[in-house]
Amino acid sequence: MATPHALLPKGQEQDVHIQTTFPDLVELDALRLTVIVDNEVDIMTSVPKELGLTTQAQVLFKDKRHLDKEKSTATSTGAGAATVEHAYDHQASQGEGGPVRTIGFDFNDLCCGAHGLSILVTGIRGQIEHRILFDTGPHSAIFLENAKRLEIPFEKIETIVLSHWHVDHSGGMLAAVAKCVQARKDVKNGPDKKPASVNVDVHPDRPYQRGICLARPPPPSFPGTVHSERGGRVTPPGAEKADRPITSEYVAWKADPTIQELEAAGAKVFHHRDAHVISEGFFGVSGLIPRNTSYETGIPNHMQWSPESRCWVPDPDILDERYLVARVKGKGVVVLSGCSHAGIVNVCQDVQRAFGMNQAATEINQESSSSGDGNLAEVAEESTMVESDDDKGVESSNKLFYVVGGFHLAGSSVETRIAETVRDLGKISPSYLAPGHCSGWRAKAALENAMPGRVASLGVGSDFFITAPASSSKARRTRNIK
Ligand SMILES: [Zn+2]
Ligand SMILES: [Zn+2]
Repeated sequence: MATPHALLPKGQEQDVHIQTTFPDLVELDALRLTVIVDNEVDIMTSVPKELGLTTQAQVLFKDKRHLDKEKSTATSTGAGAATVEHAYDHQASQGEGGPVRTIGFDFNDLCCGAHGLSILVTGIRGQIEHRILFDTGPHSAIFLENAKRLEIPFEKIETIVLSHWHVDHSGGMLAAVAKCVQARKDVKNGPDKKPASVNVDVHPDRPYQRGICLARPPPPSFPGTVHSERGGRVTPPGAEKADRPITSEYVAWKADPTIQELEAAGAKVFHHRDAHVISEGFFGVSGLIPRNTSYETGIPNHMQWSPESRCWVPDPDILDERYLVARVKGKGVVVLSGCSHAGIVNVCQDVQRAFGMNQAATEINQESSSSGDGNLAEVAEESTMVESDDDKGVESSNKLFYVVGGFHLAGSSVETRIAETVRDLGKISPSYLAPGHCSGWRAKAALENAMPGRVASLGVGSDFFITAPASSSKARRTRNIK
């Protein structure tokens, strides 16, 4: 079993607990999460009320531009045909009780899904608001398109936090930086006179390029070589020019933007290896996430290119990943995890340690080496039992409230971990979870089965608004409704 210290760079084997605490993190009155990029489009599935979800479709329904439009138009473009405008006149519509209002709805206004993650995070405390961007999706086109549809206020984004160096999170970063800088320039004569540059918070270990090793092909049989009738080997004409047989195949992902490119776009880059807070303590960014569970072993065939030795080298752990935390008064800690390559149970355990709520973590550590059968009914029962701790006086604002992001449980090499992950998340028992991005439908279904009513979809355009309850007693009442 890997120990946290075994994974620390040499010379940094100090207490992990100290590295991952957030002493300056303040409690927020409200936290808003606006999903700009995710793999999923889901404007229909219901979500627990306490998460304050407004889907993008609901925003469009309420949008004044649509309400006022009593004459709507639709555009259709057939293959090879000219664009045709259809006008629909609802002005004279009458229902039994009086005039009827018709809302125009154009599916072109909805965000599109893409493999990646990007979430606008807004913290509210009294009259003060801070906004940061957590990841930027896989490429600029999808990031900009969805951001435009969601009317993201780029001039108010203070920092772009990159969870880890993977292009499905960093691919839109240059575009995001450029948009923030331009938006600030556009309002520089306005009341808040923000500097034009935008902060970018990254881990210092940017790899040259990352990728995966495909399954090795069968042992090579040189296609140009045949056996002669006399038992010798001959090479047909031209075959000697053939390439040497391939022994391994790698897929190189598009490289992450370089620090130079980010700076040229207008970013002020901050390198952080350790846990720290940003935006006046509204948000915390983790340091190295300790790997404690026996089954969360990264991506076995994940590689990075070594420019020094000019070869692909194993990189299963993706040690540069960090998570983001915020704390909502009376609700608890909200965690955003980009891909959870450290394992979402390890992420949650680290959050528990950082906030001094580590009882469940200890229990899991003791059991993680034994093979769990992941019986989902048992998980549900255990999860209910852990929930009852609320009534024993555990401060609800120091509970794990909402775990959001990619849980990386999709793909044959990691789907075998679903049962154990669900079992241990059940013990940790966050109030709510939103497995998105690379979580995969099998993990989502297993989580919903184990913790019914506590799992939300993280579809693009979703706008979660988590607010402090009016009083702690009300908070306790609300938490009992699952
Ligand atoms: Zn990812
Ligand atoms: Zn990743």
